[in-house]
Amino acid sequence: ATPTALMVGTGRGAQLGILVRGPEALESAQAIDTVVLDKTGTVTTGHMAVSDVRAFDAPAEDVRRIAATLEAGSEHPIARAIATLVPDPDRGALDEFASAAGLGVTGTVDGTRAVIGRASFVAEQGLDVPDEVSAAVDEAQAAGATAVVVGWDGRARGVVAASDTLKEGSADAVARLKDLGLRPVLLTGDNRPAADAVAREVGIEEVVADVLPHEKQAFVAARQAEGRTVAMVGDGINDAAALAQADLGIALGTGTDVAREASDLTIVSGDLRVAVDGIRLSRRTLATIK
Ligand code: ADP
Ligand code: MG
Repeated sequence: ATPTALMVGTGRGAQLGILVRGPEALESAQAIDTVVLDKTGTVTTGHMAVSDVRAFDAPAEDVRRIAATLEAGSEHPIARAIATLVPDPDRGALDEFASAAGLGVTGTVDGTRAVIGRASFVAEQGLDVPDEVSAAVDEAQAAGATAVVVGWDGRARGVVAASDTLKEGSADAVARLKDLGLRPVLLTGDNRPAADAVAREVGIEEVVADVLPHEKQAFVAARQAEGRTVAMVGDGINDAAALAQADLGIALGTGTDVAREASDLTIVSGDLRVAVDGIRLSRRTLATIK
């Protein structure tokens, strides 16, 4: 690759709202055959809204208040939705807050130890997860929602369901990827039915759901070990290591600082269609120098 051609690519990128980390960022783009897309905040807006709160052996008000207090400490899209269930002055006192990436959070609310997150995480924290709670999670997830469990005093006592909407242009972006001969894969920490519903709406056939943050990086590495050249598009929430692992890491500018630092390209607007332009531009830039 000659420096001049790469500079041209960089300048054209800026016009499109694509920031290129450095000329060498585009080196591997020519060979890309697989495009891994994060779901939450990448294919969907990441602006989740709570659709249902269920209480078990506790007043619904306590479920809302404890959930909102715990989540006030987290940056996760689901946390931001749950925190707004209760206005700031009505939340409890949060201490000993700790966040487990891709699993949930723990802390004390007014001195009581409480947990919110995946059912498996709540159980690992030593709380009983009764069948009625698991059934409520399954029901919400079957309907395409993301459901988290909240518990304190020895057991799970609530289920909060939230959902997200597709970004405008996501289906179009996936169609364009396929037109370029690239294989899209949806990779998410969210549950299988919710992931499948999104994949169906945008036209992605391959879905990898229920993955933990470190498994996202391992997934990209495994494809590379099979001889694939992988582009990864993400917002940096639990996928920064995967963005860094990819041959071409593409961060959405609407995401986190850590995503931009881990990536070769940043899409300023966060529009997935422009991410596809970025892949096309990267390939063309190299093609002109051959
Ligand atoms: P995605 O890959 O869709 O961006 P994540 O890996 O960020 O998803 O999260 C996976 C799952 O972990 C969520 O769907 C949720 O069940 C759980 N989770 C993560 N963070 C939190 C949190 N702050 N509160 C409750 N649950 C959480
Ligand atoms: Mg995400």
